[in-house]
Amino acid sequence: MIFGATGDLAKRKLFPSLYRLFERGRLEKFAVIGVARRTLDNDDFQQSVKDSVLSALGEKGNLDEFVSHFYYQAHDVADSSSYTSLRKFANQIDENYQLDGNRIFYLAMAPEFFGPIALHLKSDGLTEVKGYKRLVIEKPFGHDLESAKELNKQIRSAFSEKEVYRIDHYLGKEMVRNIEVIRFANAIFEPLWNNKYISNIQITSSETLGVEERGRYYETSGALRDMLQNHMMQMVALLAMEPPIKLTTDEIRSEKVRVFRALRTIEGDKVNDYFVRGQYGEGTIGGKKAPKYRDEPMVDKESNTETFVAGKIKIDNFRWAGVPFYIRTGKRMAAKSTKIVVQFKDIPMNLYYQTEKMLNPNLLVIHIQPEEGITLHLNAKKAGGHLDAQEVKLSFANTGSNAMNTPEGYEKLLYDCMRGDATNFTHWDEVAYSWAFVDKISEVWENSKADSFPNYQSGTMGPKAADELLEKDGYFWWPVGDLEVDICK
Ligand code: NAD
Repeated sequence: MIFGATGDLAKRKLFPSLYRLFERGRLEKFAVIGVARRTLDNDDFQQSVKDSVLSALGEKGNLDEFVSHFYYQAHDVADSSSYTSLRKFANQIDENYQLDGNRIFYLAMAPEFFGPIALHLKSDGLTEVKGYKRLVIEKPFGHDLESAKELNKQIRSAFSEKEVYRIDHYLGKEMVRNIEVIRFANAIFEPLWNNKYISNIQITSSETLGVEERGRYYETSGALRDMLQNHMMQMVALLAMEPPIKLTTDEIRSEKVRVFRALRTIEGDKVNDYFVRGQYGEGTIGGKKAPKYRDEPMVDKESNTETFVAGKIKIDNFRWAGVPFYIRTGKRMAAKSTKIVVQFKDIPMNLYYQTEKMLNPNLLVIHIQPEEGITLHLNAKKAGGHLDAQEVKLSFANTGSNAMNTPEGYEKLLYDCMRGDATNFTHWDEVAYSWAFVDKISEVWENSKADSFPNYQSGTMGPKAADELLEKDGYFWWPVGDLEVDICK
């Protein structure tokens, strides 16, 4: 059951992902009930599902058969009688398709509806099923720890923790899932993955787009809540966790939670030493002029909302003591790119100093999007030279080897949910710890106006202060290079 079936998320992501699962033979006995406010008949709804699959994938295949599994119910989320008729309809569909009472509720709706819908699903009997019942919810999960707790309470009164699948679509990305394999399946990395050999880790997630039509929502959120609390913190946890004793959901989650527990709290006076906020001004992107954030639709002319955040995170445990994790994310930046750079420490002595250049440190770059792959930066002898060392890069591009078969994040997550595998969804403990960490920063920023806003030009990599954050530790941000270029070289 998809609540919000006429919305953007359903059309752009969910229907195409379901179609791909269907085409791969991963959906056998299934039916989808689309639920939304608007009055539509089944034919219109099926046509809109067809249109969205065609525009996302351009495929025709078995589309007619696929959409014949889709039904539509107009619904008022606040009205019990809507749920009663939905229950009767769902029971009927269950029987027709012999679904054994297994039911997934996907809430592709604004977050203020999550709690009330979950409560109604229980009180109006939709969760009384013979099979499994699972609730899938999108971000944002609250806007701070308090609101997240309240939301969790409402959801948990209808679903157990094991039945709640909190989507963080970064956890559906191929290369985010690959972090664990790169770390734990390679003898050349695993022994080095600690403060003895790693000097710092940098995670960048930059967008070239501005806030677009989402000004109203973004004004209540900002980069810290919209990106850092969830996606960036999840990547930190995957990079920093101890090897789990088994690859089970519980073991992996508990290792991630241990990372969150070891995060050094950054609060009060310390916040502006460890974190930098930014807001985009005018600039040029791809040859086009871009307006400043404060001139975007539905944005306050004096907005204090950050569209960029960079920070230094410290993990106070034996493995990571002394290693900074630098993270930055923002809108209207110079490139669209999500990348992780693991910088290894310099070797103890440089024998190849002839050029008066320091040797480049070894880097492991994990390209998350848009390109997917890995680049390892090494030093090797310069061809023809005496004994000069130069940097060489070994690159692997996922797209090259797996061709078009890399499934979309949502496709993998929907499939995991159907199989009951919650590993790549966010557990409540992770949500709570990361909100507690982020709340301390937003408390300071909300209570002090950023006089310098706007403080970075559209089309750049953020404010100068973000560079200074690393410079004062003797580092700099590695450029978000292009994997394809590395490979062509
Ligand atoms: P949207 O505004 O496009 O769609 C909202 C849907 O909710 C529509 O189908 C609408 O009919 C339905 N709806 C609204 N009020 C209703 C009511 N009172 N009763 C019944 N139905 C009602 O929103 P969206 O962009 O699809 O986003 C949905 C959720 O997913 C949000 O929580 C958003 O933050 C999250 N999200 C969206 C995207 C995306 O790519 N669009 C990405 C990540 C997260």
